Amino acid sequence: MSNEKGNISINTENIFPIIKKWLYSDKDIFIRELISNGCDAVSKHKRLVSFGEAKSNNEENYKIIVSVSKEKGTLTFSDNGIGMTEEEVRKYINQVAFSGAQDFVEKYKDKMAEGNDIIGHFGLGFYSAFMVSKRVQIDTLSYKEDSEAVRWISDGGTEYEISPSDLRTTRGTTITLYIDDESKEFLDFYKVRGIIEKYCGFLPVEIFLKDEDKKEEDKSSEKDTPLNDTNPLWLKKPSECTDEEYKKFYHKVFHDFQDPLFWIHLNVDYPFNLKGILYFPKLKNEFELIEGEVKLFNNQVFVANNIKEVIPEFLLLLKGAIDCPDLPLNVSRSFLQNDKDVSRISKHIVKKVADKLNSIFKNDREKYNEFWDDIQLFIKYGCLRDESFYDKIKDSIIFKNIEGNYITLNDYLENAKDKHENKVFYINDTEKQSQYIKLFKEYGLDAVILSTPIDNNFISFLEYKVGNIKFNRVDSDLSDILKDKENKEENKEEKDKIIELFKEAIGDKVKEYSVESLKSEGTPAMILVSEYSRRMAEMQKQFGGAVGMSFPEEKTLVINDNNPIVKKLVSLKDDEIKKDIIKLICNQIVDLALISNKSLNAEELDEFIQRSNEIMKRVVEL
Ligand code: ADP
Ligand code: MG
Repeated sequence: MSNEKGNISINTENIFPIIKKWLYSDKDIFIRELISNGCDAVSKHKRLVSFGEAKSNNEENYKIIVSVSKEKGTLTFSDNGIGMTEEEVRKYINQVAFSGAQDFVEKYKDKMAEGNDIIGHFGLGFYSAFMVSKRVQIDTLSYKEDSEAVRWISDGGTEYEISPSDLRTTRGTTITLYIDDESKEFLDFYKVRGIIEKYCGFLPVEIFLKDEDKKEEDKSSEKDTPLNDTNPLWLKKPSECTDEEYKKFYHKVFHDFQDPLFWIHLNVDYPFNLKGILYFPKLKNEFELIEGEVKLFNNQVFVANNIKEVIPEFLLLLKGAIDCPDLPLNVSRSFLQNDKDVSRISKHIVKKVADKLNSIFKNDREKYNEFWDDIQLFIKYGCLRDESFYDKIKDSIIFKNIEGNYITLNDYLENAKDKHENKVFYINDTEKQSQYIKLFKEYGLDAVILSTPIDNNFISFLEYKVGNIKFNRVDSDLSDILKDKENKEENKEEKDKIIELFKEAIGDKVKEYSVESLKSEGTPAMILVSEYSRRMAEMQKQFGGAVGMSFPEEKTLVINDNNPIVKKLVSLKDDEIKKDIIKLICNQIVDLALISNKSLNAEELDEFIQRSNEIMKRVVEL
């Protein structure tokens, strides 16, 4: 073989500057591309061996070695794959790789202007080496018998040089990058290791990283273990994976020391190819925002995290790995959005997740109940984001009730049938509403706890989807329940008198009054706030006062005529001398009821404290 200089004939004068500029923010991917090429070369050789078309020395130890040398300023990628003959270098590098890169640029020129809009950057392949190199050298020896090793060198323009190579004496290819001055970071051992682990952590050929600058004696201390896991769990048959394996994979990949709650192993061959594992993470505490991480792979090569176009947004709350060999990942996101396959894949994943949840609900209800606190946010968010998910999952939505049991909406409605129809009472703050919970228990009523940040939205959503039900907070309209149905009319006059007494004493602190005979004597009065007005007020708070209108909460004071203090007040009603103390006590009763419902504002609290002191003073003076 003689030395030869030549020109690569491509049409675009200089694609190099375009690619370099456009890919600037994502330079790392050249490592993925060169390692993937090494992997492809190994797979090709394996295939030829299995066809009997290539010789194998039985102890094939396929591997890719990446070595870094700060001293030489080089990064090399060496594989023992199929290699290339001189002819193949001309064909695949001069023509395929360069024209591939050229096609790519022409096709996506417009997209590039929009910025970093392309997900995979697949297709650029070999050429991406020039993003970080002032010179690229290939040394390769083909598997074919009697081949000679070839060297190819280029500085990234259209010129190249071919000559015999003395570097390769065994089958395979070594790519040497002479890293340019602006890309020195790629000579850092740890930086390179991080990138390999990120993008190539699950490639099928063992990858080793060497620090060439280290002296021989140091090298022996280098662990000779591959950086990647060549057999990712998602490729195994679900029936052959153990729980331990699933957990181990989870800990390792997501750096979460806790065990996941459960997982879904996706394994589809038809009509598209999809494999993966989705984990439901355990939350560390109830206030933690779920932060998921779904890694997308293309044939074991990592592409990116959390691609909304492929994986429905609500599923990004989970953790997992999805491998889609069929996805056109070398195209822009806007293309993915309109791709039919992509939406089919996305729908399929949603269906699988719903199936799994439904199956745990049906077959292992106890476990499902146990998980509920951890998965409810995910499920509710999923329902709000994707009604088709709600339709699939609706019968597996459960609620924790005041007894601490987990029940379905139907269970609740069935149990409450005789007491109140189509109404679901709920608590959103078990501490603040403890007074009401007590009352509910006394009346043998049930309520569900809906205390997550999205429950307000979820409640409205359920009302709209289910149709004829209303959610009422436990401190809202309870008149149906508290009404003493039998002697309602008889005591009307007596009740009006009590209302009169309070109205006179307290002014306009509340809007409505009612008198009921509560089961518990101990509570003189309580406050109810109409569900509608409270929701409006909350909404206004959420969206700020800019709406202009203000929605005051409509409060009703429920006075308990079974309470001894109230009884006493009524009996003293016409006592002129006690008028003053009656007023004090009435106000005190109302404030206590308000406190049990919601806190007082500063002014109200001040008044309440002063009044309490005044009452104590009068008591000691008695
Ligand atoms: P692609 O991998 O998509 O084909 P690339 O630009 O990455 O495109 O590579 C172009 C071609 O160069 C490959 O198809 C392959 O034939 C050849 N090639 C690149 N790297 C190697 C290698 N390490 N060993 C053997 N052939 C290689
Ligand atoms: Mg390639």
